[in-house]
Amino acid sequence: MSIQLFGVPVSRGVAIGRAVLVASSRVDVAHYFVGADQVVAEVGRLRQARDTVAEELSTLQRDLPDDAPAELSALLDVHLMLLHDETLTGAARSWIVDRHYNAEWAVSAQLEVLARQFDEMEDDYLRERKADLEQVVERVLQALSRKPADATVVAANGLAARDFAGEDPLVLVANDVAPADMMRFKNSVFTGFITDVGGRTSHTAIVARSMDIPAVVGAREASRLIRPDDWVVIDGDAGIVIVEPSPIVLEEYRFRQRQSELERARLHRLRHTPSVTLDGQAVELLANIEQPGDAVAAVEAGAVGVGLFRTEFLFMSRGGDLPDEDEQFEAYRDAVVAMRGLPVTIRTVDVGADKPLERMTIQELRHEHVLNPALGLRAIRWSLSEPGMFRQQLRAILRASAYGRVRILIPMVAHLNEVRMTLDALERARRQLDDAGRLYTPVELGAMIEVPAAAISLRQFLRYFDFVSIGTNDLIQYTLAIDRADDAVSHLYDPWHPAVLGLIAKVIAEAQAAGKGVSVCGEMAGDPAFTALLLAMGLRSFSMHPAQIPSIKQRLLRADARRLAASLQRVLDAEAPQAEAAKVFAAG
Ligand code: PEP
Ligand code: MG
Repeated sequence: MSIQLFGVPVSRGVAIGRAVLVASSRVDVAHYFVGADQVVAEVGRLRQARDTVAEELSTLQRDLPDDAPAELSALLDVHLMLLHDETLTGAARSWIVDRHYNAEWAVSAQLEVLARQFDEMEDDYLRERKADLEQVVERVLQALSRKPADATVVAANGLAARDFAGEDPLVLVANDVAPADMMRFKNSVFTGFITDVGGRTSHTAIVARSMDIPAVVGAREASRLIRPDDWVVIDGDAGIVIVEPSPIVLEEYRFRQRQSELERARLHRLRHTPSVTLDGQAVELLANIEQPGDAVAAVEAGAVGVGLFRTEFLFMSRGGDLPDEDEQFEAYRDAVVAMRGLPVTIRTVDVGADKPLERMTIQELRHEHVLNPALGLRAIRWSLSEPGMFRQQLRAILRASAYGRVRILIPMVAHLNEVRMTLDALERARRQLDDAGRLYTPVELGAMIEVPAAAISLRQFLRYFDFVSIGTNDLIQYTLAIDRADDAVSHLYDPWHPAVLGLIAKVIAEAQAAGKGVSVCGEMAGDPAFTALLLAMGLRSFSMHPAQIPSIKQRLLRADARRLAASLQRVLDAEAPQAEAAKVFAAG
């Protein structure tokens, strides 16, 4: 029977595919297809892993001390029985043979199927065997990781589902996905995402948007109600998920899917058109990137530079082993070189809040009792608390400046003291490079304006910076006291709130009056609903995911910035700014 679920739309378009359920703890398992000629070898890998685990368990049992409790031996028997049960390894083999999943994916997919059956059992004893099953699967995965697939096989198959002829498209369904894990899914087999938790500007949502595939987050019970292999429609515009749609609904969505592909192709033709408003105002469209490889998409979309390189993704999920100066330098240099002389704004690391260093979902963070992570040690606060690490990053960024135009951006400044300490760290990093005889060129320094304190006392901050970039995602979060990653309050996350609009307008006006560059790099910049408003406020520099550039360009090509500006005050003064904007900006 068809069911509908509602969530927060975070990435546009329609995706139709079969559900792959991935437990939060299992998303870091590799997901790729093996070629038809590798199926036998992959089944062999699985068999070997199973035999290794059987050997381990038997050895454990044999070596149990005489005085060990009898239950321990019985438990190992249960584990051995589960391991050899056809419903685990036998069924996992079928995922490899029929679907061409790699062995790790096959085992974890089967765990997901069995875990549900255990959950539904009436008998307490049997239900509790789920934990044993998880332990057995964990052992099998460990054994597989000790015998990884041939690297050339993985590389040749890549992660591209679309290249695997005859395979149904797949959509990922999870309770939550940590931002770092989301990065693994870039260029992956999945054509859409659904998560139970998350808000519009949670970092998981942001990464989904950067992948330009339809996604719905905060769909509450999705991962419980959707079964593996169900056909699912994701309506990323409306935030609707339809499970097992009727043929007529499916046909309607297939039609919409084709329409949006046509629209995309049409917009793509605008990429070489200069971005100038009807009244001749040039507008800079920049790209937000998460990794150096994204620079290709930025150039392809017609971006005139990178307005935000979120470097924290280089630092995440490394088991405490942070990237050293050379590794960082190479990443920054690659992005700079790929942009071919266009400016690259590199933001210093912004970990913390919903981007913890280690792979943890928001729910896991809460479980760990990290209270109010959004108000905690994140962004520049964390960098200043780790001065050696901070200088290392600054040196790496400065060294990349020898290869093109680099600008440094500091996240979440709230206090002038942080600015002074940052300038001091920068000066010391330069001196260290001088001593080491390393090359670098002058770089501009910018501040993210995303904490209300910095927006309110902007004038004092401006004198230390060459430019500012407004991080609307956090500015909204901190102005309205709404955790951006919490779906329980996502309905209160309101970019149209008069206080938010007032702060953005103030920052743009004051920065321009001081002769400093100002851009917006939060999600508002890439949302066509705000283009007219931001143009009316005088904004001439927008930074967004590369995929969003064409539709924003289309908006501004049709806009008359001077006429829009004349109506701005009415919107800012309105009790319902969104409705007022729809009325007064309609003509411009
Ligand atoms: C923002 O806060 O608007 C921003 C661009 O930074 P991030 O989303 O990475 O916090
Ligand atoms: Mg931010």
